[in-house]
Amino acid sequence: MEITVGSHVWVEDQELAWVDGVVTSVNGNEAEVETINGNQVTTKLSKLYPKDMEAPDTGVDDMTKLSYLHEPAVLHNLATRYGIKEIYTYCGNILIAINPFQAISHLYDTELMDSYKGAQLGDRSPHVFAITDVAYRAMNNEGKSNSILVSGESGAGKTETTKMVMRYLAYLGGHAAAEARTVERKVLESNPVLEAFGNAKTVRNNNSSRFGKFVEIQFDACGQISGAAIRTYLLEKSRVCQISEPERNYHCFYLLCAAPPKEIEKYKLGDPKSFHYLNQSSCYELVGVDDSHDYLATKKAMDIVGISVEEQDAIFRIVAAILHLGNIAFALEGEDSSVLEDDKAKFHLQVTAELLMCDLEALETALCKRNMVTPEEVIKRSLDPLGAAISRDGLAKTIYARLFDWLVKKINVSIGQDPDSKCLIGVLDIYGFESFKTSSFEQFCINFTNEKLQQHFNQKPGGIISLLDETCMFPKSTHETFAQKLYQTFKDHKRFVKPKLARTEFTIVHYAGEVQYQCDQFLDKNKDYIVPEHQELLSTSKCSFIASLFPSLNAETPKSGKFSSIGSRFKLQLQQLMDILNSTEPHYIRCIKPNSDLRPEIFENVSVLQQLRSGGVLEAIRVKCEGYPTNRIFSEFLERFSILVPEVLKENVEENVACKSIMEKVGLSNYQIGKTKIFLRAGQMAELDGRKAKL
Ligand code: ATP
Ligand code: MG
Repeated sequence: MEITVGSHVWVEDQELAWVDGVVTSVNGNEAEVETINGNQVTTKLSKLYPKDMEAPDTGVDDMTKLSYLHEPAVLHNLATRYGIKEIYTYCGNILIAINPFQAISHLYDTELMDSYKGAQLGDRSPHVFAITDVAYRAMNNEGKSNSILVSGESGAGKTETTKMVMRYLAYLGGHAAAEARTVERKVLESNPVLEAFGNAKTVRNNNSSRFGKFVEIQFDACGQISGAAIRTYLLEKSRVCQISEPERNYHCFYLLCAAPPKEIEKYKLGDPKSFHYLNQSSCYELVGVDDSHDYLATKKAMDIVGISVEEQDAIFRIVAAILHLGNIAFALEGEDSSVLEDDKAKFHLQVTAELLMCDLEALETALCKRNMVTPEEVIKRSLDPLGAAISRDGLAKTIYARLFDWLVKKINVSIGQDPDSKCLIGVLDIYGFESFKTSSFEQFCINFTNEKLQQHFNQKPGGIISLLDETCMFPKSTHETFAQKLYQTFKDHKRFVKPKLARTEFTIVHYAGEVQYQCDQFLDKNKDYIVPEHQELLSTSKCSFIASLFPSLNAETPKSGKFSSIGSRFKLQLQQLMDILNSTEPHYIRCIKPNSDLRPEIFENVSVLQQLRSGGVLEAIRVKCEGYPTNRIFSEFLERFSILVPEVLKENVEENVACKSIMEKVGLSNYQIGKTKIFLRAGQMAELDGRKAKL
């Protein structure tokens, strides 16, 4: 479309990303624009995008209905809809979900579920239920597995969306008879249990999932839920012993500190402020969350998913033990040995030993000393206070991680898998692309996952993990030697960059942007390692539950003390996930976080645009633009453009013929006429509008 004086256009803006305005003068290939916020901007004509002055005030529910399908139009449409609490919008068959940060009434009611059942996509307003319904119907009709991939950055609403998908599937594939309803109840109640142990308040989200999750819901031949399997990925272990302002540790710790007095007494708990693992941050309570209520709710959910009262006792005993363990402080003795710091430390040591049902002295030794194996004998070497604290934290992390894995396994056993199920619907809730000031091993794994999910995957990240494993196996390796190996191996790779002057950093050009990674903790974080003394201590616990978390070593488990690679295990898990996903028909939901204050009604353009880019939404649009991005029902097209060739309406011809005449008269070719719609090339709609404006 020709841009002339008076044209309404979108122009780039630092603060708003795009702002609309009117062209006030054109000079060669430059134009001056007066924007609605009162600025005069001079810019190249090629950087202006036409604004659709006939776009409906309420936006369009599918981006492909936009007359002009370009970045500013997409953004404006989402902002418009968000302003009227329409949080869902399609972009073709992708559902975009913008976190409302407030409850929207009736958005997830049963009546609404009823109305989506069996409806065609697009018949009703965009919704998670609509996408889920399509997946469920496709599964039933074609006998093929489907999956729903929910992505987005932290706080964007993935977990809430996933829960709605699961609720709707339970509604569609639920059982009529109450006694048969246990499967779907267990599936749904697995959420609060896993959230209590795997979610925490972070800067980005008050209920942030610190693990990835894939739930596979199995259906029988009648389309009823017959089983389910939950897989989890990469729980963030470091949080158990290290948190910073204004974050919190895992919810379960605070829930337990808010338990009824009987439990508090039994586990010798008290104010969360008195525990080192909690008081590193001054945030203890969450607005709108009642921990004592949630403690009981979590126990109820545990009942439903089949965790017995005895098991629950053991679980919370472990949670309490970890808190006490964290309070065992050490002081220097002699030159490089450590002893318990004071009576308080002694008290906590004693309580920890009681709760873990292990020998008190053995616990102290396991924390403060290490066995040195020499060819002749085994010598006990003392650790300094720092070494002892690291040992203690390592123990806490290992116990917690094993407890989490136990929960997942237990839930899976309790729900049960249906060996005869032919079809499943997989629901993936996994962290989106991350790039921080300091991006480490975790971000690397997360971004690696996203590359794979975006199918932009290339061999490189896998190569990096192999190299990391090799490095970890050499006792003398450091992160510097790892970095050197990386630089050598990938120096010619076009997606790998060694930043200038870097010694231990490397940059990867991901599909969603460049990320610079810091190598310094890659080696440590890749090592899944249990100190043999810790293993020995807990495998002999008198609590059978705890002992079972630390089974004595046999051929199957990796030898204790030997390194097993977290990166490689993750890579394998990811490959298995990809294998499942590849055998399913995928559906995509992209969650968007509209602002970083976690507040309703605020829509920050720049950040939303960034998310649309990294979530692949804009790319999907670009692909669409290469074909026929715009289509219109004949009657709508005629209503908008018959004014260009008024005689077409008089001729009493069929609508499609009238549409063709208009295009011919205007001199546009290359469009397509379908059964009910006309399909236009990028820019054709703008061209038609331009002609209209000149009349
Ligand atoms: P993370 O990656 O940190 O786990 P996430 O994408 O899973 O983040 P959620 O925990 O699902 O994010 O959402 C964050 C918060 O946003 C929720 O706790 C809730 O307060 C709010 N929220 C998300 N989706 C909705 C919704 N559909 N309606 C109302 N509030 C919502
Ligand atoms: Mg989440």
